[in-house]
Amino acid sequence: MASIFTKIISGEIPCYKVAETTDFLAFLDINPNAKGHTLCIPKKEENKIFDLDENEYVELMKFSRKVAKGIEKVIDCKRVGMTVIGLEVPHVHVHLIPLTTMEDARFINKQNLSPEDFKNIATQISEAI
Ligand code: AMP
Repeated sequence: MASIFTKIISGEIPCYKVAETTDFLAFLDINPNAKGHTLCIPKKEENKIFDLDENEYVELMKFSRKVAKGIEKVIDCKRVGMTVIGLEVPHVHVHLIPLTTMEDARFINKQNLSPEDFKNIATQISEAI
């Protein structure tokens, strides 16, 4: 069965898109730790990040780096942190999280954002990349 992220890639499920290439997609996490929390995924469905081949892994990191630089330009934070978990969605994704305090890295305190907020943030990051 297709992962929820494969359904996002195909357009079956909507997302707040931040960036896209032939092989990768970045979109806002729907339950963000902090404003600007973004997920970077390969379009090829793979469960675990270290099962990507070396080239796919490096290209995902390069894509994530570009997106992180865009986030840093427009989101007020001390730095952008990077986390890989994957316990909820078995499709490789890199969490890029704007960090101000350690709490932002803990996946406990979630932000309530309106659809309008999500749209504006995605547009701002997208234009900064
Ligand atoms: P994990 O697999 O533990 O790294 O967590 C999966 C992440 O995907 C969580 O932070 C979710 O909020 C996020 N997520 C799940 N479904 C969606 C969706 N449809 N759009 C955006 N983010 C999602």
